[in-house]
Amino acid sequence: MNNIEKNLTSIRAAITTAASACGRSTESILLLAVSKKKPADDIREAYACGQRDFGENYLQEALQKQHELQDLDINWHFIGAIQSNKTRSIAEAFDWVHCIDRLKIATRLSEQRPAGFAPLNVCIQVNIDHEASKAGIDLDAVPELALAMSTLPGIRLRGLMAIPAPREDYAQQCQAFARLADALASLQQQGLDCDTLSMGMTQDMEAAIAQGSTLVRIGTAIFGERP
Ligand SMILES: *Cc1c(COP(=O)(O)O)cnc(C)c1O
Repeated sequence: MNNIEKNLTSIRAAITTAASACGRSTESILLLAVSKKKPADDIREAYACGQRDFGENYLQEALQKQHELQDLDINWHFIGAIQSNKTRSIAEAFDWVHCIDRLKIATRLSEQRPAGFAPLNVCIQVNIDHEASKAGIDLDAVPELALAMSTLPGIRLRGLMAIPAPREDYAQQCQAFARLADALASLQQQGLDCDTLSMGMTQDMEAAIAQGSTLVRIGTAIFGERP
């Protein structure tokens, strides 16, 4: 086995272990392979091992790789910061966007989603630990933005995404993820048809799964350190 194949096998095993530790099924958790700064050939290799969902942070880099990998049936997720002059390309080229934190961006993505395409799946990014260095909105602001977004026809609000501050302690990791899970539950109680908690990365995947993550975003543990 090459490295990517080995890494994918062990990540999938870790997801299964973490899921069964809390009585969840492996199928309820989607593995998003974060391929930013990695070559198209690495994506092709992961695809050959059955991986279908890939996350990219930088638009130009992503479009180049999409061009090289046109022959593959990949679900592309945009997980980087979005400038408003880039929304059209994102609306045209991706299946998911994880980092919406303004109604203006959501509105543009909705308007620019090409006719005949399924609505773009989107998540609201929450700045769960109020870090100046991170994008995302406060938890308090989630219901209002979610309600406004739920009326836009070109997008489908799937749920919430967060990148908590790094913590070593498992119980503390869990607390941050639990706050995001509570926020999703309140949206569901308000009648919004949301099903996604995009939370958990290489360092905190187990805690995220224990708190209900439905999508873990893993880069380094699959593709190795980035340049
Ligand atoms: C880079 C990135 C990841 C993957 O991080 P790793 O530590 O390499 O697993 C996940 N989510 C987002 C939003 C990222 O930008």
